[in-house]
Amino acid sequence: MKIVNVTEGLVEQKLDEVINMLDCCKCEQCRADIISCALNKLTPKYVNTDIGKAYVKLDSMSPQFEVDLLTALFEAVDKVKKNPRHHQD
Ligand SMILES: [Zn+2]
Repeated sequence: MKIVNVTEGLVEQKLDEVINMLDCCKCEQCRADIISCALNKLTPKYVNTDIGKAYVKLDSMSPQFEVDLLTALFEAVDKVKKNPRHHQD
């Protein structure tokens, strides 16, 4: 049985939705940093993969969770923008 944190998929989907509105770097390193930083602020939601597929939909989120998710993403973007770990040379 494979356990998946569905919050992870939701954070990635949401980042794709809002990344163009945010003035942030879109490289692999920054994306990964933003996602992991946001995930550390959010409550993980673990399911096994069969149920997981049904859950990984933005519509299934409660409005409060969406607010929490966006807040975590904005904070994460802000942090990564101030301290990017990608190669700048
Ligand atoms: Zn970058």
